[in-house]
Parts: sequence; C-alpha cells; structure tokens
Amino acid sequence: MQGLVIKSTGSWYTVIGEDQNRYDCRIKGKFRMKGLVSTNPVAVGDQVDFELEPDQETAVISKVHPRRNYIIRKSINLSKQVQIIATNLDQACLVVTLASPRTSLGFIDRFLVTAEAYRIPAVLIFNKLDLFSQEGLEILDNYIDLYEGIGYKCLAVSAIKGTNLDQLEALLKDKTTLFSGHSGVGKSSLINQIIPGKELRTGEISDWSDTGKHTTTFAEMFELPFGGKLIDTPGIRELGLTDIEPKELAHFFPEMRALMNQCKFNNCVHINEPGCAVLKALENGDIEPTRYDSYQSMYFGNDTRH
Ligand code: GDP
Ligand code: ZN
Repeated sequence: MQGLVIKSTGSWYTVIGEDQNRYDCRIKGKFRMKGLVSTNPVAVGDQVDFELEPDQETAVISKVHPRRNYIIRKSINLSKQVQIIATNLDQACLVVTLASPRTSLGFIDRFLVTAEAYRIPAVLIFNKLDLFSQEGLEILDNYIDLYEGIGYKCLAVSAIKGTNLDQLEALLKDKTTLFSGHSGVGKSSLINQIIPGKELRTGEISDWSDTGKHTTTFAEMFELPFGGKLIDTPGIRELGLTDIEPKELAHFFPEMRALMNQCKFNNCVHINEPGCAVLKALENGDIEPTRYDSYQSMYFGNDTRH
C-alpha cells in the first residue's frame, strides 16, 4: 500500500495509508540517498510504499518515493550526518517575536538562507502582536518593510487575541507547511488556535537529544481543518544547512543575487573587492546593513547561534 509519513520518532514511523488508516511502520534493509548521509532514511512528508506484517497491525516500509524537496538539520555529534526533518514542502513559516523572547535578525536571516538553499518559499510570522507598544509597532513595520522588500511574505498575528488568524489560515490553506520557531515564540499556541482540539502543550521547552536513540518526536504533520497540512517541529532550534560554500552564499540573499552580475569581478564575494555592486548598494542604502551583517557572519562562519 502507498501512504504518507506523518510522524517519526526514530525507528517507528506513523503512516496514513490510502485507506485513511494509520499504520505503525518500521524500516527494513538499506535505503540509499544520493549525496546525503542521514540518520533517518524516511521523514515526515515522505510518500512511501509499505507492507503489512503478519500481525496486521504493524508494517514495513519498502520504498520511499522521490522527494520534491527536503529540509534537514545537522546532527550535533555526528558532524557528517544529517537528519531529514521534513520533505515535500510547499512553504516554510518561521514564527518570530520581537519581545519575550526576541528573535534575532541573524537567526531570521539564517532561516531564510536555508529556505533559499532548498528552494522552499519562506514566510515570516510575527507573533504576540498584542504585546506591542506604539514604538514596537513601528519597529515591526520596519522589519516587515525590510523583508517584504526582499520578497518574503510577512504576517503579524496574535495567538492570544486571535488577531489576523484568518490571514494565517488563508496562507496555510491547501498547502504543506513547515512551522518552525524558537521555543517560547508561541508556535504551539498558534497551532492550537488553528487546529481546535489539538491541544498541544504550551510553555514547554524541549530539545531533540542526540544520544543515538531518537525517542523524541522531532516532526509531526497535522491535517488542517480548512484544508492543508502543517508540520510542527517541536524542539528543533534551527534548520541546518549542508555544503553551502562561502562563495555561493550571496546566491541565497535575493537582494544580493539580483546585483551580483554587476560586480566588476565575476568571482566577487562582496567582502572588500573593488567595483563590488553589493558593497555599493550597501553604501547607498539599497541593501540593509542588518542583512549584510548576517551575510558577513555566515560567510566567515562566526555567526552566534541564537
Ligand atoms: P512555543 O514554545 O513556541 O510553542 O510557545 P508557546 O505556544 O508554548 O507559548 C509560549 C508562551 O507565550 C506562553 O506563555 C503563551 O501563553 C505565550 N504566547 C503565545 N502566543 C502569544 C501571543 O500572541 N501573545 C502573548 N501575549 N503571549 C503569547
Ligand atoms: Zn560583489
């Protein structure tokens, strides 16, 4: 039977079959993926073939269908290995807050670069709108102008007050969306609002432990009542990039990408080269200093993680 993987807890996968029933599935044998060494060969979002075991309750996954895209995180201990978080995504939302806790622009920019690298459209959701003072609202407007100017969709919402949740629903409708964000930004509260009865626990801090035994759920897909699917990633602090060469990095900043072919040298990395169109745009104010700061930190690999 064919099915969709909706949950992965390490060695067991929950699969919704074509008959709409849920099956607990294991993997047998080797799964190979070109160019990727991953700790989990099957991930949430995968379309798989599986066969029922004689007990008729559990099943074995025999094949993973080709993926449209995927998003990974790096394993903390096993530096060469990666963990596939989710596959076959239409978009990735990052829930952020400007206060309690404040999401750093560096963190936002790394998320956006990751999404660019995987060619997955990214959306920023600014939550806790109800907490904003007049001054806070102005800062929010500036951020939204900045990111919409680059081409990213932005939404300001309040999970607590229910503000603009209709816009969030319109964004998610009939799509498969990865929902990501630092713990404390209100991701669970938002999910509870848009999927009534889900009752995800809020206010909890969890993290995926890299002990080799992955007992924690690190991604789970939910059916949206108005159509579409949402993939929650509890405990995942940051999506991971593999193999972005520093000299490739500017490709993943759309505003730099647009200018790069005007640089004097075609191998320009936009750090200190003469005739660099990116540096000129930075000087003119056409590229935001905060974005360029993120570029530099990522380029030199000294980005502070949080
Ligand atoms: P998660 O860790 O991202 O899943 O965040 P939670 O949903 O657990 O929320 C963390 C805390 O922020 C909880 O105390 C929530 O009540 C609070 N919170 C969530 N959304 C909002 C919001 O829109 N406004 C305010 N004021 N608080 C919120
Ligand atoms: Zn340049």
